[in-house]
Amino acid sequence: QAKNAGRNTIRFFDPQMQSVLTQRATLESELRAAIDNSEFQLHYQPQVDSTGTIIGAEALIRWNHPVRGIIYPDQFIPLSEQTGLIEPLGQWALEQACRQLMRWSEDDRTQNLILAVNVSARQFHQDNFVEQVRQAISHSGASINHLKLEMTETMILGDVSGAITKMKQLQSMGIGFSLDDFGTGYSSLSYLTQLPLEQVKIDRSFIHNLPHNENNATVVQTIISLTRSLGLKVIAEGVETEAQRQFLNQHGCLHCQGYLFSRPVPIERFEQLLQLHDNHSQGYS
Ligand code: C2E
Ligand code: MG
Ligand code: MG
Ligand code: MG
Repeated sequence: QAKNAGRNTIRFFDPQMQSVLTQRATLESELRAAIDNSEFQLHYQPQVDSTGTIIGAEALIRWNHPVRGIIYPDQFIPLSEQTGLIEPLGQWALEQACRQLMRWSEDDRTQNLILAVNVSARQFHQDNFVEQVRQAISHSGASINHLKLEMTETMILGDVSGAITKMKQLQSMGIGFSLDDFGTGYSSLSYLTQLPLEQVKIDRSFIHNLPHNENNATVVQTIISLTRSLGLKVIAEGVETEAQRQFLNQHGCLHCQGYLFSRPVPIERFEQLLQLHDNHSQGYS
């Protein structure tokens, strides 16, 4: 045992390893402070139908770091997962999204918008997750039918039946589920039939080289026809070009999200996009 401890100690003082650990520790303590200091913000990326009408948005978290500026989720969500900080952070995002849905419900022009919120594995697996969602909704007064939760396949691994039970409880409250990044994970087809899903979201890695990449074109067509024949809705993420949008629409994927329409933007800008769209139903530029 002493020998093992010795080895670990030596490895711990490897200077490179040490600096990674220091960076992580710094990030972790900054994240904790950032939660207390409300340094987080949701950005909203439009989701559109085949006419280009905005039907909703995905809420994407950003960290407005006082020194480093905007930090994107790939740089802090994984560590938040590992340290458990995702629990307060995820709850914050959910509450924030519900407050936004509440505000939208007060205006005819926005009351039908759907807001999709990403949920991480650890957040979902908390014992009281269903209760947390219920509270976020009831505290905000948001309409439950307009909240969508984005899950990934990897989240469900390990305890499929437990996940299904939880999802069904939330579904019975009126919440819809979208299976995010579809095609990149395990893509077990049994999930598609077992989980109470409303929608499947085709991962952007299949979209970016459409329509010229024949393999991806085939994969995308297959996902679309599979999901549709199972009675599920389908949306594509990462749509950047008109050619991609056309390919998707022609093959029956009518809902799209991506830089072609807009990057994720602060709420003020998102609401401008809604108005712009009202005025000129042709485009966004
Ligand atoms: P995701 O849920 O798959 O979100 C889509 C990502 O694709 C977003 O990155 C978005 O900005 C980016 N994207 C959208 N359109 C395009 C496009 O046309 N081209 C390209 N290249 N990228 C596009 P973002 O905002 O950096 O978020 C990364 C990931 O972080 C998300 O992936 C999601 O897994 C996670 N995340 C974001 N917000 C939250 C949150 O509130 N809670 C949790 N648990 N995870 C979150
Ligand atoms: Mg997502
Ligand atoms: Mg995604
Ligand atoms: Mg993703």
